Amino acid sequence: MSTFKEKATAFLMSRIGKTAYVINTTAITDSLLQITLHLPEAINWRSCQHLKCEVGKQAYRDYTIASWDQATQTAVLLIHTSHEGTGSNWAKQLQPEQSFFYAGPGGGFHQPTAADNLVCIGDASAIGHFVSLYKCRHPQQQFHAMIIDKHLPSTILDMPIHTGTSEQLTNWVRHLPVQETTFYLAGNIPLLVKTRKTIKDLGGKQIKSAGFWE
Ligand SMILES: Cc1cc2nc3c(=O)[nH]c(=O)nc-3n(C[C@H](O)[C@H](O)[C@H](O)COP(=O)(O)OP(=O)(O)OC[C@H]3O[C@@H](n4cnc5c(N)ncnc54)[C@H](O)[C@@H]3O)c2cc1C
Repeated sequence: MSTFKEKATAFLMSRIGKTAYVINTTAITDSLLQITLHLPEAINWRSCQHLKCEVGKQAYRDYTIASWDQATQTAVLLIHTSHEGTGSNWAKQLQPEQSFFYAGPGGGFHQPTAADNLVCIGDASAIGHFVSLYKCRHPQQQFHAMIIDKHLPSTILDMPIHTGTSEQLTNWVRHLPVQETTFYLAGNIPLLVKTRKTIKDLGGKQIKSAGFWE
């Protein structure tokens, strides 16, 4: 049965929903999909904006625009699909030329700061969020992304990636200049809460968090 929130979102979607077309889908790994979309109108793109996508009957999930090409009005989403879920199953069945309803973009609250170092930490659902920060940073800023996952390529959409376990994370953060760093944490909420505490214990002060799921 639909919750009140889902019904309200469905009503809103019927008023403001737009149609996106899938150009192609690529499996970066067996649980990370790169979905390239054509959007019907130009957007004022900045880091960490998401689209609210209709993934089933009165079912909606948010996915971050990892990159945007203004000339062709194409957006790239990176969707983590390791689990059974309405959004994950929807993403896996998408095919070129398929269309779906979306609203947005919304969000965009996290932007690159002027700090010397930008450090991103999260699980694979946060890669799109981090790629968008990477693309909007100043080229002279140091940028590191640590993803708690086993099997990922060393770069995704040009962004260099470190991978590790949550146990290796503390040691990794310990070697960073935490005082001159802005940390961006995103994805799994318990991971984010634990990582925030680790960074604070090591003296980090600029921490921006975006919890996606638990
Ligand atoms: C602002 C915002 C931006 C987001 N951007 C992205 C994005 O760019 N890419 C992306 O993949 N997701 C993103 N998410 C998360 C996404 O919207 C969904 O919440 C998430 O993918 C789960 O949806 P689902 O229907 O597949 O699973 P659900 O039906 O919500 O959950 C089913 C089960 O799977 C577990 N689960 C959910 N997600 C994961 C996961 N990633 N890995 C392992 N287990 C999981 C849940 O704990 C639950 O037990 C974003 C969320 C927000 C709020």
